[in-house]
Amino acid sequence: MTKNKENKQQGLTVLTPEDHFFFECHQGLDCFTRCCRNITIFLTPYDILRMKNGLKMSSEDFLSTYTATLVGDSGLPVVALKMQDDEEKSCPFVTSKGCKIYEDRPWSCRIYPLKPESTKITEKSEKEYYSVMDVSFCLGLSEDKVLTVKKWKEEQGISIYRAMENFFKKITMNEFLSNKKISNKNIQDMYYMACYDLDRFRRFVFESKFLKLFEVKPETMENLKKDDVELYKFAMRWLEYGLLGQQVLKVKPDVIKAKKQETGIE
Ligand code: SF4
Ligand code: SF4
Repeated sequence: MTKNKENKQQGLTVLTPEDHFFFECHQGLDCFTRCCRNITIFLTPYDILRMKNGLKMSSEDFLSTYTATLVGDSGLPVVALKMQDDEEKSCPFVTSKGCKIYEDRPWSCRIYPLKPESTKITEKSEKEYYSVMDVSFCLGLSEDKVLTVKKWKEEQGISIYRAMENFFKKITMNEFLSNKKISNKNIQDMYYMACYDLDRFRRFVFESKFLKLFEVKPETMENLKKDDVELYKFAMRWLEYGLLGQQVLKVKPDVIKAKKQETGIE
């Protein structure tokens, strides 16, 4: 029995940031890289931003080479890492020495062996809870190294992922979408582009009539041209505007005037 299971027997089934757990992953273990095979890894928009930049690929090339798209409960697309077509269904980035994109590995690879157990209610009160995953083949769970949840999150660089995820959650956790099933292909594509295909979204902003419709400050435009994180945050605002109907972008006065004339509404 791993020491983490002993924790559970003592009634410690969810951990706060200060609670401890036992885990150490290293090359000397027989299970090394076993966890990088035959798994489903859903990717967040920020995962894709980091991975495609780490690999120096465009978002289009990254998505077509390494991902598969599925449809989530809301009808909106979700993106998963495409495992290789070998016997073990290996992650495309696993090598005998470990992860070849370690600096930019996805959030779920970082947080393992912890599993977030927070709910909307606990998140609102800024409380976090985690459990330790019970994975039979993972020998790291039987090692003696003691970690706190807080320390593990720091070591794994989780905070930037969490901060970036909050922009995305504003869309996915919005009540407006909770009982909806989106089936409109244009909306699905708009969402996919804004969340996952950032280089295409950049072209959409600069090469379509977007800038004729919306007021965008010159310094914001400069940032959007060169900074993917700013572009991602802007894309999430565009979804808040277009998908959730929130007035977070400003339509140009002449566009509003023309629309009023066209519809006869004053
Ligand atoms: S210890 Fe666990 S996380 Fe580390 S390689 Fe083995 S299975 Fe993977
Ligand atoms: S991205 Fe890296 S850590 Fe994650 S499954 Fe693939 S090889 Fe393993």
